[in-house]
Amino acid sequence: MSMFCYQCEMSTPNGCGSTGATVGTCGKDENLARLQDTMIFGLKGLSAYREHLNAIEPRATKNVDDVMSETLYFTLTNVNFNFDDHIAQLMKVGSAGVEVMDKLSNAHTGKFGIPTPIRVDQNKVEGKAILVSGHDLDMLEKLLQATEGRGINIYTHSEMLPAHGYPELRKYAHLKGNVGKAWFDQVELLKRFKGTFVVNTNCIVPPKKNADYIERVFTYKIVGIEGGTQIVNDDFEPLIQKTLACEETNMDDNLTLTTGHHYKTILTLAPQILEAVQSGKIRQFFVIAGCDAPGSAGNYYREMAENLPEDCVIITSSCGKFRFNDIDFGTIAGTEIPRYLDLGQCNDSNGAVEIAKAISGALDTPINDLPIAIVLSWMEQKAVIILLALFSLGIQDIYLGPKPPQFVNEDIMNFLAEHFNLHLTGDAKEDLEKLLLKKVA
Ligand code: SF4
Ligand code: SF4
Repeated sequence: MSMFCYQCEMSTPNGCGSTGATVGTCGKDENLARLQDTMIFGLKGLSAYREHLNAIEPRATKNVDDVMSETLYFTLTNVNFNFDDHIAQLMKVGSAGVEVMDKLSNAHTGKFGIPTPIRVDQNKVEGKAILVSGHDLDMLEKLLQATEGRGINIYTHSEMLPAHGYPELRKYAHLKGNVGKAWFDQVELLKRFKGTFVVNTNCIVPPKKNADYIERVFTYKIVGIEGGTQIVNDDFEPLIQKTLACEETNMDDNLTLTTGHHYKTILTLAPQILEAVQSGKIRQFFVIAGCDAPGSAGNYYREMAENLPEDCVIITSSCGKFRFNDIDFGTIAGTEIPRYLDLGQCNDSNGAVEIAKAISGALDTPINDLPIAIVLSWMEQKAVIILLALFSLGIQDIYLGPKPPQFVNEDIMNFLAEHFNLHLTGDAKEDLEKLLLKKVA
């Protein structure tokens, strides 16, 4: 069903569009309905980043708040029926996404220092342990402070992995390593991990009612599940006491992961990177980033990454990287530039743009003409705001997958293809063939 809307009293029975009509009673057509849905999904992602920023820099959110309320108003019944205005509002949401990611990135580096590359133990756990999942670095710092000297080790899960790169977080000796992969492995993971598990943002998997680990699950702020324990007013004592009462965990998979290539660190390598691009040692950058989701469709991104020629650099962020971050990509031949750069969490996606801007300025070449391919995975609404942010910056030729978003219809996909050259992913090797620039002899 391309048209569906039930937001007002004029709705036809079961919602405008539910019986096949392409225009609602008020005159809203299917394209406007889809664009308004896209706005709202973008706002959901924006609101999450706004909340993360608000926790650290509460006075920095005014413009983002204004765009959010204005955009919600825009989608009210009978406010606007103009297609171009809808696209302009969508770009406004995207620009607010750029702003919030930039501010959040600066708030993180201002508070926790600029990340530097680090190898992190993966699935190596000992003793009484807390596993922290989500995206909230501020909460992690508070937890590290509260647990210092208490005989508890802290481990990261999924999007918390990049925390290890920040100097002000990794200075805590009891921040040990990372456990598990992207967010959706929680149920299986908690069979092996015997300590407590805290989720501080979205991407919690609700345990089944009879799951024997519910009593070990804690949630923070807005996150909640039936049977879990909420951490209130940053009082970590109930979590600490529960952790001390849990069995010790002993895991050792003898693996490591690399993270900490924040764009501010990468920019310090700019002269070497530029020399490598100009001399042909680096043929192309591949931004392979985004949210991961259960199922085999995400294998596309691993196939793409592992088939890249040795003279290509992968730039990644978000939890989609767990599809391929176990691979040792080494360095670009004749340089010390790593072939795998983990910018950080999904909100650190702005780093790819900052790197592109720096290369663009140095080479005096428009960003869309640089040797940079962008292949994104989307799962939920944080990825939607990232995509809108890239569109608002005029970035083109993005490949998006692994499945087309259901909230856009064919007309809107055609519009995005025409105006932004947006592609949907297909076969990884065939897409790679299309994206790969021919080697300069
Ligand atoms: S806003 Fe328009 S399309 Fe939506 S339910 Fe009301 S009449 Fe129907
Ligand atoms: S990158 Fe997306 S899917 Fe992954 S944990 Fe973050 S919000 Fe969730």
